[in-house]
Amino acid sequence: MYGKLTVICGPMFAGKTTELLKRILWARNGENKNVLVLKTAFDNRYADTRVVSHNGLSADAKAIRRFADIADLSREAELVCLDEVQFFTGMDMDVVEFVSDLLHGGRDIVVAGLDTNWKGEPFPATALLMAMADEVIKLKAHCSVCGQPAYKSFKKLQDGREIVLGNSDIYEARCNQHWIAERIDRPQEIAAAHA
Ligand SMILES: [Zn+2]
Repeated sequence: MYGKLTVICGPMFAGKTTELLKRILWARNGENKNVLVLKTAFDNRYADTRVVSHNGLSADAKAIRRFADIADLSREAELVCLDEVQFFTGMDMDVVEFVSDLLHGGRDIVVAGLDTNWKGEPFPATALLMAMADEVIKLKAHCSVCGQPAYKSFKKLQDGREIVLGNSDIYEARCNQHWIAERIDRPQEIAAAHA
């Protein structure tokens, strides 16, 4: 038995968590499966022990700092779901290794997360899992400027930090043109390229 890996990715405000929650709720309530839902203890924007979408769907989850803490639970689960998979870093085990072990153990996995940061750079965990996945669902948002399909997360605040938790106060979704036109780090990048 080898499990199936599904990756739900895209920019912020694309409905990734909603898509994940639909699968969690169907597996739990429709198929009566033992579903383990994980988030990092680091991501506490919403309720600590629930995964909650922007539109109000929610499901029970475990907020963890170490994979060792849920080793038994993950062996019992038929489906393991990870929300905001790009945040599962600096833990006791690499998240890709964790997922790979569960797949080898016959568990199905669904992960949801950002594919790139606000600079357009891939998050390593999401990128690797996308390569390993049986199914990749790449969702789009709508550009906050023109309403066209948006595949990029745009950062409105100029604080230079890589990972900042936040929602519409800090980030918005942008189409490629409106993302590149006002990127806050772009003047320095262009200056560096011409130095
Ligand atoms: Zn646009």
